[in-house]
Amino acid sequence: MYELTHYINGAHVKGTSGRFTDVFNPATGEIQAKTPLASKAELDAAVAIAAAAQPAWAAVNPQRRARVLMKFVDLLNRDLDKLAEALSREHGKTFPDAKGDVIRGLEVVEYCIGAPQMLKGEYTDSASAGIDIYSMRQALGVSAGITPFNFPAMIPMWMFAPAIACGNAFILKPSERDPSVPLMLAELFEEAGLPKGILQVVNGDKESVDAILDNETIQSIGFVGSTPIAEYIYGRGCANGKRVQCFGGAKNHMIIMPDADMDQVADALIGAGYGAAGERCMAISIAVPVGDETADRLIAKLTPRVESLKIGPYTAGDDVDFGPVVTAAAKERVLGLVDSGVAAGADLVVDGRDFKLQGYEDGFFVGACLFDNVTADMEIYKQEIFGPVLAVVRAQSYEAAIGLAMDNEYGNGTAIFTRDGDTARNFANRINVGMVGVNVPIPVPLAYHTFGGWKKSAFGDLNQHGPDAFRFYTRTKTVTARWPSGTKEGADFSIPTME
Ligand code: NAD
Repeated sequence: MYELTHYINGAHVKGTSGRFTDVFNPATGEIQAKTPLASKAELDAAVAIAAAAQPAWAAVNPQRRARVLMKFVDLLNRDLDKLAEALSREHGKTFPDAKGDVIRGLEVVEYCIGAPQMLKGEYTDSASAGIDIYSMRQALGVSAGITPFNFPAMIPMWMFAPAIACGNAFILKPSERDPSVPLMLAELFEEAGLPKGILQVVNGDKESVDAILDNETIQSIGFVGSTPIAEYIYGRGCANGKRVQCFGGAKNHMIIMPDADMDQVADALIGAGYGAAGERCMAISIAVPVGDETADRLIAKLTPRVESLKIGPYTAGDDVDFGPVVTAAAKERVLGLVDSGVAAGADLVVDGRDFKLQGYEDGFFVGACLFDNVTADMEIYKQEIFGPVLAVVRAQSYEAAIGLAMDNEYGNGTAIFTRDGDTARNFANRINVGMVGVNVPIPVPLAYHTFGGWKKSAFGDLNQHGPDAFRFYTRTKTVTARWPSGTKEGADFSIPTME
């Protein structure tokens, strides 16, 4: 049993609020650590340290700042296994998947090494007689990020790498369920040369989140997590005059046309539906085959694949397809939703509810479940399950299938599987979802594109990483300059135009 800390001003600091929460080993069900839950006073003290450190960091030229990021990438690669092990231990995901979590974050750090290029402003020479106009992108000051449990390495890096590359200081409030990796990341960034106070980790729950929302020094807030909390943070953060971007939950549909290669479809669905035990915002949770004949072929291909999925602890290595869900409460919720699907009349083709793993009876494992004949009025269709449960909703036409996805309140990711370019193009153009895959089940854009959903999956107008991140973490200042001055005498009271 270990006691976790905050990371403040270059040091691991014990919590002083007297409040803690348990961190479990999801594979065994044991409590393995205690995380301190920061008070408002602890959060505010960290922000004051960040505000004091930030101007000097912003004054470092962007290329030198980028060099610190370069070194950080080296250290992430050096410690990749160590980070992945700590991540799997608290989250439960498999070791290769944990490495992927770190690497997808590292890729955004690599992208942010291009900050000197991204931060270049614009310049108009001789906008008028003797007048030049130029714009610059300046750091906001102190930014904060509130992150979910399911990607404890990747999502913090998606936020703090661009924020820090732009010259901001950053306060990270990671998920209280798996905070070890965020603490390790802050330590590694400082080993790379980041000054103290520029990246601090404050562990906590609603109290520290509310302190972030109300702190007058914090200029911008990034949030990733469930939709109700995203809406809350967006509303209160904006009302307090902050720049806020919030990314919420998802219910991602994959449409399967009759002409699709069904083996390719089934393999894609297995990875996208059950990878990381379904605890991904880009997981496919709804498969929509078009036509009953397509649906029957799909179920026939999926069933043996789902039945043979290997479930176990990350310590079992490559022998495991996915691990436990994160907490006992998450397990109970998933099982409750599966029960509700059965009660509502959906066909549970593969029933993983009684799954037990010898030696890990108290772990938070849920066996893979596959539903057929799900309808849009059922809770298993409406709610984000965030577990290893795939629901097949049969559509009788392409129009019905795309309509289903478009009517869904979430709009994070979606995919279509077809060999017909015309249908794929029609789908990509019409669908009201932020990230679209064509024969790609999890279309997570790479670091130099942006990531973000539509509808109830995202609040705010800029996406994560890619060029949007440099817009989110800077503000533009435009200077109109006359050198030399003094062309004409006297005041001019009309607005200058180009007439
Ligand atoms: P969560 O909403 O429970 O928690 C996210 C963060 O909010 C945590 O740091 C948590 O401490 C904080 N929080 C929780 N309750 C709060 C409250 N009442 N007031 C203030 N702060 C609070 O989400 P989670 O369970 O950690 O993560 C899973 C969710 O995240 C899923 O809905 C998933 O779809 C979503 N997610 C979305 C994306 C995306 O990019 N859209 C990416 C990953 C995860």
